[in-house]
Order: sequence, then structure tokens, then C-alpha cells
Amino acid sequence: MVQSSPIRDARYYFSDGVVVLLCQGVLYKLHKTRLSMKSEFFLDLFKFPQNTSTTVVDGQDDDHPLRLDDSGIQNVDFRHLLVFLYDQDEIVAPAALQFHLSVLKLSMLWRIPSGIKYVKQQLPSHPEFTPAIQIQLSRQYDIIDWAGPAFRDLIEQPLDDIKLADSKHMGIVAFYKLIQVKHRVADYKVAMAFHPPDVHHSFGCDDENACSRLWESFWWGGFAKQLLHPNNKKKPAEILLELNPNKGVLSHMHPTCLQYTMEGIWENNPFNDEQEFMDEALIDLSSWIISL
Ligand SMILES: [Zn+2]
Repeated sequence: MVQSSPIRDARYYFSDGVVVLLCQGVLYKLHKTRLSMKSEFFLDLFKFPQNTSTTVVDGQDDDHPLRLDDSGIQNVDFRHLLVFLYDQDEIVAPAALQFHLSVLKLSMLWRIPSGIKYVKQQLPSHPEFTPAIQIQLSRQYDIIDWAGPAFRDLIEQPLDDIKLADSKHMGIVAFYKLIQVKHRVADYKVAMAFHPPDVHHSFGCDDENACSRLWESFWWGGFAKQLLHPNNKKKPAEILLELNPNKGVLSHMHPTCLQYTMEGIWENNPFNDEQEFMDEALIDLSSWIISL
């Protein structure tokens, strides 16, 4: 196969550059000081000057470039990195998601702290930075503090909103853990709806059976119905906090019994379970990410 000769990049082939790099058919002529200043990798690479009088040095001209292809570097990533290194002041936010992915990838590879810092600052508010991509990058680059918030967001999202692409981004283990927690939360809600908490009757209660029946009918017809409604986005605690004791069936219940019953519910704090499922799954997920 005849390979076409490389072309010089229109912007990043500087006449006063000293090192020529080749990436997927494109030549770049750059400044060693610029690269070394930003990248610990290039600092090491250029640390020991080779004797140019006797040997041909990789990077000295178009015919002897440093070949980034040998390291599997993609031109799209490399050029994005150069925009970051040379033209950061001209980047209009939000830059394309791919731009950030490129800068992060090569900054991790070539140890460019400013690139990592820049992407970590910019990405969280990027419109295309989905929780699934956040989990993907978190496990690819060990950015553990990204996994938790992303996982929580996904647990809150209806399953229908989670697309195939999302599951591909996050990977099968994270996706499995997500589905597992979603199931546990759903089962837990059904159990909660099915078992009304006991009524704590007051001394003033003159008909405990009637009082308890009112509570149960509120639990079934009010609380459980709202909790299990397909469109419900509220947590069990929110639903209970929003209930109005002066309306509907609760208004017929003995007010002190209702007060004691509610206090009993909050004392036992049955709503912690959901949080615990999530915390357990997050610990699992984080140890998985660390083990990669
Ligand atoms: Zn009562």
C-alpha cells in the first residue's frame, strides 16, 4: 500500500519550533519548552539532549519525526491537546465533549497536571457530560469522587431514561449494580406500602379500632397509592412530610394518636434503608473501580 506523504498542520507547525512530531499523517513542529513546561512526560523525554552532530535524532525534521502513531495516539486527541496547550485563551466554553475527553486522556498519559485540572473543572457543568460518562471516566482514570454523585443521579432516574449507550459507557458491573439497587429500592417501597406502621394511641382515644382503621385507610389510599404511583418521583419521607392532617381521612383520626404515630415513624427512621442500599452499592462500586 502506498502511503500518502504527511502534511504539515496549518496552525501547529511553527517555523521556530524545534521538535517535529508525526501523528496519523499530520506533522507538527513544536517547542520543547512549551511541552516540557506542561508535561512531566515530555520534560523527562527532552531532559537528555542527544548528540545531533553524530546521530539522526527522532524529531529533528519532517523526515525524522517523533512518531506518536507508535504509541497509538489519535490525531484528534493530539490536536485537541495542542489547542489546550497553545490556545487555551481562545477556547469558547462549553468546548465539545470530545475536546475534554482528548485533553483528559493525553493529560493522564503524559502527566499534564494543568490539563487534568482544567477538565475536572469544566466537565461537571458540561451539558453532554451524562452520569454514565462520568462513571466511565471515573473508572478509566481512577477519579473516585466522580462515581458517587453520578451513581446517585442514575438511581434517581427512571429506568426508561437510561439508554443502551449509557449502559455501554458505565460498563456491565456498574450497570448491574445500578439495576440491583433499583430493584432493592422498588421492593423496599412495596414492602413499606404493604405494611402500615402501628398506631400509637393516646389516652384520649375513645375507639382504638376505628382510629387504627382510619390510619390504615390513609396508608393504603393516600400514602401507598402516591408512593407506588408510576409517575411518583418523591421519596417516602417527602410524601409523609407533605401530608396534611386536616384533610381527608386523617382529619377524622384522633389528633394526638396521629401525632404519636407520626413521631413513632420518625423515631424508627424507616427511610434510612434506601440510603443504606445506595451507600452499600457505592462502597461496592468504589472498591471495584479501585481494583481495575
Ligand atoms: Zn387512637
